[in-house]
Formats: sequence, structure tokens, C-alpha cells
Amino acid sequence: MKCGFCHSPLTKEVSLSQLLRFSPVVFNEYCLSCSKELSRLNKEVFHCQYCQKELAVDSNICDDCHDWEKQLKTFSLKHDYLFSYNEKMKAYFQHYKFLGDIHLSRVFASDIQEGLRSYQQAGFIIVPIPLSKKKLRKRGFNQVERLLMSSDIPFTSMMSKKETLVSQSEKSKEERLASKQPFFISNKAKRKIKGQKILLIDDVYTTGRTILHAYDCLLPYKPKEIRSFSLSR
Ligand SMILES: [Zn+2]
Ligand SMILES: [Zn+2]
Repeated sequence: MKCGFCHSPLTKEVSLSQLLRFSPVVFNEYCLSCSKELSRLNKEVFHCQYCQKELAVDSNICDDCHDWEKQLKTFSLKHDYLFSYNEKMKAYFQHYKFLGDIHLSRVFASDIQEGLRSYQQAGFIIVPIPLSKKKLRKRGFNQVERLLMSSDIPFTSMMSKKETLVSQSEKSKEERLASKQPFFISNKAKRKIKGQKILLIDDVYTTGRTILHAYDCLLPYKPKEIRSFSLSR
């Protein structure tokens, strides 16, 4: 096993708590020195009450969520994530998503498994954000589903994405914020949402536009609760 960032060799060490869980053990694939360059979400510092973005000053809402509050009548968001988006995470997503190194889906396997445990125990259905068919063909895999598979997390793919002419990452911030609902739910899945707790999963949370579209798409089918989670924010 090698570090997903710097390729230095790693040894697999199973902790006692992992052993006692009696479920397949998954490992993170990054070394100690690379881990020091990652910025884990620190819940001790000021952060946004909606998206948990860390804030430098004594405040409880970030600029993005402040804009959503003004723009959307039904703004509601409870987002959680593991790592702040920094240069290290940027390099990770560059290799994983854009260069398509599928093996990198394992880099944060144990972190993701740990991060999702309390949601699973609380009965949340894990729902990954979909890719459009065209995007899926181009990339060859859904990066969110792959992260979940590598972390041994069962999930339900109930959403689909319409084809769009320009992808989110190619749009300016203004264009992204104004984008129309890209998701839809199959008739079969619609009947399974009522009264359920749903946890939407994305790889990166940027402005919140994608996640908020997904919340909107699910809401008419009366889930009990919707929350969201991403590897990075
Ligand atoms: Zn490393
Ligand atoms: Zn926020």
C-alpha cells in the first residue's frame, strides 16, 4: 500500500476498535507527512451554522449561505464535511477526478467510513449526487459512488442528472448560482422517500448550488429530514 499523494510505502495497522467492529476494515491511504498538509474540519473554531465552513471572525454564517438566505425563500441546509478545501485537496481532486485515477477513491476510505457512521446508525439513507450520462461516459466512473464503495458504505442511487451544455466546473460563479434544477428522481424512487432521513453525498462542496438543487429535488416527496455531507468544503 502506498500514499495516494507522495507514493511513499504505508503499512496497514488495524486498530482495536476496527477489529471489534467485525466489519471489513478499510484503510486511509496517505502518509503522516501528507496528513499534516490536510486541514480537517475543526468544530472548535467559528463556523457557518449551515455549511460548517470555518470562519475567521466571530460569526455564524458564511458569505455563500448569507446569499442563499436572501435569495431562497425555502433555504434550509445542514451540511457536514471532513476536510477544508486547500492546495492538498485541490491536487487530490485533480488526479482523482480530472485525470481519472480511480485508485485514489481509497485514499480517505477510513475517514469517510468514520465520518458517516453516526448517520448510518441514525438510519439515514445514503444518496450520492449523480453525474449526467455524458459525464459518466467521459470520466468512466462516478467519483462519489466510488468513494462510498471504497469505504464499504452501502448507498441508494435515487437521483439522476439531466444533460447540461456546460459543466459546473467550467462556469463562472454567477453562472453556477443561477443554474436551473439539474436533477430528477425516478418514479420508483419517489415512492421510497416519504418519511425517510436522507443524507446526500458529494465530493466537494463549493457554493452549495449543487447540494441545494438536490435538497429541492427531494423535498416535494416529503422526506423526514435531509442532510448533506462532502469529503471537502
Ligand atoms: Zn504521502
Ligand atoms: Zn455556510
